[in-house]
Amino acid sequence: MLEKSPIQVLGVPIHPWTMGEAVAYLEESIATGRQSFVVTANAEIVMLCQENAAYKEIVTHKADVVLPDGAGAVWAGRHLGYQVPERVAGFDLFNQLLKAGVEKGRKAYFFGGAPGIAEAAKAKAEELYPGVQIVGCHNGFFKEAESAGIIAEINQSGAELLFVALGAPKQEQWLVNHAAELKSRVLMGIGGSFDVLAGKMERAPKWMQEASLEWAFRLYKQPSRFLRMLALPKFVLKVLFSTKA
Ligand code: UDP
Repeated sequence: MLEKSPIQVLGVPIHPWTMGEAVAYLEESIATGRQSFVVTANAEIVMLCQENAAYKEIVTHKADVVLPDGAGAVWAGRHLGYQVPERVAGFDLFNQLLKAGVEKGRKAYFFGGAPGIAEAAKAKAEELYPGVQIVGCHNGFFKEAESAGIIAEINQSGAELLFVALGAPKQEQWLVNHAAELKSRVLMGIGGSFDVLAGKMERAPKWMQEASLEWAFRLYKQPSRFLRMLALPKFVLKVLFSTKA
């Protein structure tokens, strides 16, 4: 079991793990039957925690693993004087878990996105990772009264990995509310990852990711995100004026 304790970024605990360590930890969860709830925390999520106490409670006390998703989270940790080896982006971790699961015969369930998107993401995953077992899909536009039926379907599918793409904070709230009823071992919110895998939304080119410019690409592609993305400069300022816990 990994011992690296979480660092604190604006009161949010983040595990400074590598991608390899995160995959190994979650693989161990499946092997030992322990349920792990994963949050991939980018700057927007850290800022959401500042404004929404219930969401902060979920990220700080209900999540088992909080990973540094996004250049902002990595920069903040390093600026505060912590060792943060690398960014563990939700989309990349999602892909790595699918890939690692092929050899081990793991089953995954895709829940979320507009109708047809999870199925399109499944088809793409099957092309990228031959042998991957995606044992069910459900779109993310549902009424809470339908949750019991969706949970029954997920449990019947035998999926060990449950990927939920409802966006933050909805995906984390849904997972926390239903964790006890879910038999899956890895519970993870993945935002718009099905859209990206399905090819409906483009991800920033590698050079932009490496230059910490993924936010600029998203803003260019989805100008409607402008208001949401104001959280990023606010995050930078807040980190600059904070100190290591
Ligand atoms: N979504 C959903 N149900 C909802 C609201 C959103 O399935 O009630 C999906 C939406 O279709 C999209 C994803 O959740 O695929 C949210 O993507 P976004 O880019 O906002 O998430 P982020 O990656 O920024 O957290």
